[in-house]
Amino acid sequence: MSSFVVALDVGGTSMKGGLVDDAGVVLLTERRPTPRENGPEAVVEAIRTFVGDLAASGDGSPAGVGIAVPGLVDPGMALYSANIGWRDVPASAFCGLDIPVVLGHDVQTGGLAESVIGAGRGVDDFLFLPIGTGIAGAMILRGAPYGGASGWGGEIGHIPVFPDGEQCACGQFGCLETYASAASVGRRYSLRSGQEGIRAEQVVASDDPLAIEVWDEAVEALSLALATYTLLLDPSLIVLGGGLAEAGPALFDPVRTRLVKRLTFRDAPPLAPAALGVDAGMLGAALLGWRAAGRGSIGGSWRLDVRSGPLVS
Ligand SMILES: [Zn+2]
Repeated sequence: MSSFVVALDVGGTSMKGGLVDDAGVVLLTERRPTPRENGPEAVVEAIRTFVGDLAASGDGSPAGVGIAVPGLVDPGMALYSANIGWRDVPASAFCGLDIPVVLGHDVQTGGLAESVIGAGRGVDDFLFLPIGTGIAGAMILRGAPYGGASGWGGEIGHIPVFPDGEQCACGQFGCLETYASAASVGRRYSLRSGQEGIRAEQVVASDDPLAIEVWDEAVEALSLALATYTLLLDPSLIVLGGGLAEAGPALFDPVRTRLVKRLTFRDAPPLAPAALGVDAGMLGAALLGWRAAGRGSIGGSWRLDVRSGPLVS
């Protein structure tokens, strides 16, 4: 009997693949570039090859395949990705093997992993908000990621926090992402200071008044968006992840303080760092692979080994 699945997290620039057994042990991981510049068909082909190569590296044949992809997605179809450029690609196109394959939205798949084996373990209602180049959220409601009526749910990065604010790449004005993504923090400081190529972590660490101003605006935007989410959905926890969460107390402390201050008639939910880091998408894809194989309740007994990163049973 097969005792492992193929898991793949497809990002805009690279893909992270792995084999994960039914005890949650990561048997193997590999990273490959996403050949986005060669068009959507080339990306589909690269995924198909990657899945085949990973499957062939295992002992026997895999029980299932889980793939996290960007854009709009349902379990059997990658519907649309502006980033990669595909439309309506069936799950079977990503896998040349005769085994069950399930697709998941990238951020929601990461949220699933944080929910089952990460920072949200045992919590039914929480927000997972990775803050990196962009900002998107996974809303975990009653124990499962929620994508809304058409799959667009969780686009918290495009909540208009400052109605008369700067225009976002999406065309709207004053979006959270325009102020508080790692890319935006670096870009906004570079614009104001005239210094090119400054990264968010340099802005966070700087005592230049311009850097303090840009960081303050990012924190303000985040606290506004999190207050809105809290008032709407009453989460018991907010999990912050992605590159910007590496800032640690420099992010968590001021956001927590302002969120508490903003909410007058109710308590603020606790803020916690994500537990799975850059592996969340791949580990969530493994959970999807096991679900595809009919092992829907798997994951509850998996334990994160914080010393070495991989999971141990
Ligand atoms: Zn936007």
